[in-house]
This record gives sequence, structure tokens and C-alpha cells, in this order.
Amino acid sequence: MSKHVKPPRITEKQFMRSVTEMASALGWRFHHEANSFGSKPGFPDLALFHPDHGALYLELKTGNYGLTGPQQEWIDWLTHCRQIAYVVRPDDMDVIEAMLRGNMIFREDVPA
Ligand SMILES: [Mg+2]
Repeated sequence: MSKHVKPPRITEKQFMRSVTEMASALGWRFHHEANSFGSKPGFPDLALFHPDHGALYLELKTGNYGLTGPQQEWIDWLTHCRQIAYVVRPDDMDVIEAMLRGNMIFREDVPA
């Protein structure tokens, strides 16, 4: 292996598994569109629902990829509709855990 080859990063599939396993363990039900073929692009990867914490929408990103235009539009629209919608990356697992425990869902930040 060349010294220029970067160490393998977590794939979005692995990241998704980490988040959904934690979510299930903490009592969330979720929907993930496994195959977006036929759907309009941009809706967040994961829609999660919890009886105490409500709904949470997460767009998962790995590597240096940013949001596409349609993804940004959906995050903005969900926020405008007083939903909790975030972009998360593998480095955010502690924040994700806090959100899934209901500790860091800042509803007061959502415009009324
Ligand atoms: Mg994604």
C-alpha cells in the first residue's frame, strides 16, 4: 500500500448501521429508503420516530461530501416546518447518541 493511500473510512452503509442499531436499542422506529430509485432525490436518509422525543430526520454523510441542492432544500424545508433535521457524520456519534437519548434535540431552536 502506498503511503499516499488514506486509511479506509467508514462507509455510509456502516455508519447507517451504527446509527440504526443505536436508535433501535433506544426505542426509536425508523424508515430508511434502501433504494431511492424512482423517488425524487433529496429527502433525508433516515426518518426516526420516538414516543417521547418525536420525529428526527438525519442526512448521513461520510467523507468530504457536502449536501446536494435537493438535500439542502429538504433540510431547510423540514426545519421551516418545525421538524428536527440534521446532517450528521461519523465523527458525530456522541452527538447522535445524545440526540437519540432525547438530550440534544433543541426544539427551542426551531422557529415557531
Ligand atoms: Mg446520505
